[in-house]
Amino acid sequence: MATCVVTGGAGFLGSHLCETLLARGHRVICVDNLETGSLANIEHIRSPEFVHLNLDIIEPYFIEGPVDFVYHLASPASPIDYLRLPLHTMKVGSYGTHHTLGMTKVKRARFLIASTSEVYGDPKVHPQPESYWGHVNPIGPRGVYDEAKRYAEALTMAYHRQQGVDTAIARIFNTYGPRMRPHDGRAIPTFLRQALQDRPITVFGDGSQTRSFTYVTDLIDGMIRLQESGYHQPVNLGNPNEFTLLELAETVIDVCGSRSEIVHEALPTDDPQVRQPDITLARQVLGWEPQIELREGLARTVEESGAETLIGALAS
Ligand code: NAD
Repeated sequence: MATCVVTGGAGFLGSHLCETLLARGHRVICVDNLETGSLANIEHIRSPEFVHLNLDIIEPYFIEGPVDFVYHLASPASPIDYLRLPLHTMKVGSYGTHHTLGMTKVKRARFLIASTSEVYGDPKVHPQPESYWGHVNPIGPRGVYDEAKRYAEALTMAYHRQQGVDTAIARIFNTYGPRMRPHDGRAIPTFLRQALQDRPITVFGDGSQTRSFTYVTDLIDGMIRLQESGYHQPVNLGNPNEFTLLELAETVIDVCGSRSEIVHEALPTDDPQVRQPDITLARQVLGWEPQIELREGLARTVEESGAETLIGALAS
């Protein structure tokens, strides 16, 4: 049995990761100060092999006992959160990543950081391979998130090269599934919330901008494969099927059997025009590719979450 530390383990992705690691027979230490996560995401986990430590990783922290794997997910992730918490986002990406890498080094564990497709910014290469260096506006409102992640990647490689820490970098593309918060501002929970109430679906701009959407179980499988691979360079984890926001809205309406109409709102600053992972490397190195397509993933999200949770009536 391996011991895994999951920072951000009470968040959307982290809670699914904790569950999957436990199901695979690992011990899990979830480190989360509940800044954007919630106890509701983990309170159903009853395993004696699971512990939650309410720690703010911006401060130095210590974990007792041996650790084999560290999954570093703690960070505000939705635009609403990082625009509300710009300094926290930069501190968790810098100090928080330093402290977590330092702890990993002491434990002689392997480290994986949950980086993001946002390191590519508004890309000028399409689809985006890992070799693309990105096109990020460092001083725009989104810069706090994009640059914190780019710094965290640089830090990870510095600990790897200079300190010999065994590290991995997962560049995660938009992921969705149960436990996304209805009001977190991301497209899928927003569209589902609106569609399930037959309210207008608010698409930014003309809706021609593209995204690719990965179902959460596929993403978690990819992260664990990467962690267990021994590979050190960044690896894209995302679904290469690309949709316009308008297509997404229409699919959500269809899956929900909704009577919602589509309305348009102003584009946010620095909203990327395109977003599509090149997953050649993940296929080669991890033998991984997503299994669940958008329509099925949306239907699963509705079924497993329940309409009341998705519209926020039961939100904790
Ligand atoms: P989330 O907000 O649901 O989870 C983040 C968790 O980190 C929360 O539980 C929060 O309480 C915790 N946290 C934040 N600051 C902390 C601190 N200082 N100390 C301890 N815990 C802290 O977000 P998510 O969608 O689950 O994203 C998880 C990770 O994956 C993030 O690093 C994010 O950048 C990355 N990611 C997510 C997506 C996606 O589509 N969900 C895409 C790309 C990258």
